[in-house]
Amino acid sequence: MQFSQVIGQSSIKENLIRIVQEDKIHHANMLSGKMGYGTLALALAFAQYILCENKGEADSCGTCASCVKVKKMAHPDLHFVYPTFESKELSTSIIGKWREMNEAYQGYFEIADWVNFNKAKNFKIRNEDCEQVIRNFLLKSFEGNYKIQIIWMAELMGKESNKLLKIFEEPPPKSIFILIVENMEELLPTIISRCQIIKIPHLSHEELTAELTKIYPSKPAEIQRIVPIAEGDLLLAKASIEESNFNIEAAVYKWLKFVVTAAHKKDLATISGLMRFNDGIAGSGKEEQKTFLHYLLHFLRESLVMKYSNNCNLAQDLRKVAEYFAGNVEVDQIAEIQTYIDTALYEIERNGSSKMIFINLGIKSSRVFNRGVFERDFA
Ligand SMILES: [Zn+2]
Repeated sequence: MQFSQVIGQSSIKENLIRIVQEDKIHHANMLSGKMGYGTLALALAFAQYILCENKGEADSCGTCASCVKVKKMAHPDLHFVYPTFESKELSTSIIGKWREMNEAYQGYFEIADWVNFNKAKNFKIRNEDCEQVIRNFLLKSFEGNYKIQIIWMAELMGKESNKLLKIFEEPPPKSIFILIVENMEELLPTIISRCQIIKIPHLSHEELTAELTKIYPSKPAEIQRIVPIAEGDLLLAKASIEESNFNIEAAVYKWLKFVVTAAHKKDLATISGLMRFNDGIAGSGKEEQKTFLHYLLHFLRESLVMKYSNNCNLAQDLRKVAEYFAGNVEVDQIAEIQTYIDTALYEIERNGSSKMIFINLGIKSSRVFNRGVFERDFA
């Protein structure tokens, strides 16, 4: 991993680079901060920079033999210890999983993700792993340069970390430890006192917004809502947005069900259900209303795609509805509803009464559906 792939953290990056350039690398470094701040990502970029054969002023080259090996987590002088799941299970026994995890999440994941990824429950850094660390450091480095040991979630070593004290006190030459911790106070004070502590700060609102916009380009409203409450933690922000995604999809599903059923059955219960739903959405914020309508447009476009290709970019529940639409709703009906949604968006933007706007949209859309022949209800 290169520093350029780490989100934000410019002053930490500058410090780490300077330490290497001035040849002042401490033998025991502790990076302390939430994983959602990029703590593991920084450690990986730091290790790659140290081992790079062709380092630049501001980053590792990314292409030399050493960088390539670090990227694949297959450098003979870069060792990892992390929590494992079976008694006596060494980190090296599940290195395949560790590589997969890092490939998929690029250093941005936390202990709960690692546990889920392994479909496991109990996690711990094993006594055997601590002993292995000592054995590794008694050997010379393979490539004649630094030997680096990364310990992820080092606070999970518990008392076993005592074993490492001696090696921290009398480190073999050219050996570097990088301990990554979220809760430093859970480590033994004797370990903490032997480390150079680098506190990783949370991401700024701007950094978080920029990153979330890359991941969720169609969710500006959610991003705006989540960033102020995410405490600069990318993982917390992502989890919140993914939860609210689910809600938007559920709302769209509900709306479609009401509108189609109202057209189909014309019963009072459905109509009053639609009214209640309208009240709910009319009572939410302007940004939420716009997100809802944009998602509705997205759904209609995907149902059109489905009509011709049997393929679409929707979650499971909505996919079923899209299949229903593709089979039962004509292209001109979908196009007509799209124009009503566009009008609703226009009126919301101009601060029209959202209650009236949503009632109008519901009634008009219901009429359009009523033109078609509905053989069966969906779900
Ligand atoms: Zn390189």
